[in-house]
Amino acid sequence: MLKEGTTVLPGDKVAISEELQPGEGTYERNGEIIASIVGRFRVDRQRMLAIVEPLAKSPLLLKTGDTAICEVKQLSEAMVIVKILHIAGKKRQIAGEKDAAIHISNISNEFVDDIRKKFKIGDIIRAKIIRVEPAIQLSTKGREYGVIRAYCTNCRNPLIRKNKLLECPSCGRIEERKVADDYGEGNLDRVI
Ligand SMILES: [Zn+2]
Repeated sequence: MLKEGTTVLPGDKVAISEELQPGEGTYERNGEIIASIVGRFRVDRQRMLAIVEPLAKSPLLLKTGDTAICEVKQLSEAMVIVKILHIAGKKRQIAGEKDAAIHISNISNEFVDDIRKKFKIGDIIRAKIIRVEPAIQLSTKGREYGVIRAYCTNCRNPLIRKNKLLECPSCGRIEERKVADDYGEGNLDRVI
């Protein structure tokens, strides 16, 4: 099983079912216990449960320049709406739900004609906070920013990087995203 206290993303394997049963924030699939949320891995030894605790704990002021880890919630023609889950390198976490937006012009240094080719709902991304008031605005311009974990549109398995595209190890589907240079490595606390 994983080391306790490790920060995990949805789809990460935390243990096998011979070791632990799935508890809060996890589920079982093919004999493996998988994280279903972003959080810290814990073991309930009395009940032998694998648990992923949500990161959100106490209030934290967001600042321009902070590196935010977010989940994509909504896509429109010109905007991506995300929920901020974590600020890289900060022990204290943001309280409650914090929504933010990425305008199409702030996605990439290259021209973006279709937002849906760059992000999909459920993706976990790394973005820079470029404005806090009146609404939180983010940017994913630059190679360090973009999707760090994406899920297959067919079967929800985490996609694996293959050259410039992403591939589903389960069903073979190929998808495109605006990925960060360390896609798939789970570096939630990398500060740019
Ligand atoms: Zn798939």
